[in-house]
Amino acid sequence: MTNLRTDLLHKTTTDLVRGYQGIVIEDLNVKGMVKNHHLARAISRQSWADFRRQLEYKSEMHGRDLVVANRFYPSTKTCSGCGAVKPVALSERVYKCPICGLTTDRDFNAAINLSRLRAGSSDVKPVEMEALASGCIAGETAVCEVGTELGQFCPSF
Ligand SMILES: [Zn+2]
Repeated sequence: MTNLRTDLLHKTTTDLVRGYQGIVIEDLNVKGMVKNHHLARAISRQSWADFRRQLEYKSEMHGRDLVVANRFYPSTKTCSGCGAVKPVALSERVYKCPICGLTTDRDFNAAINLSRLRAGSSDVKPVEMEALASGCIAGETAVCEVGTELGQFCPSF
């Protein structure tokens, strides 16, 4: 299992770096997420640490723009259509904006918000797996988000 996980991590990070000039990942509180029983199965703290470390050195090697979003950046709560921010429960898989009416997949919405961080240069750098799993890749920027769906996509994580 360790070899499979290591192999998967290397292939995934290599594909990301080869395929995209810009990569955005979230600096998530993985420790806190692992404490959550609902998320614990899907996330291994070590795997995510390795994932990020590999992206960092491979991006450096290949001259890619790796952006790591501040963990307090509200990627999920922000409407990618109008910029409104609202609370979103973990169980809400569809983002519905009460202001502009935008209705879209929760992770796709977050991925769009994160992809915009690459253009603006604030104190961010991030990466989200769900977006990749569902093919939600915005432009040339790959966005990887740690979330509950990852366990379904990559059981060995
Ligand atoms: Zn909106």
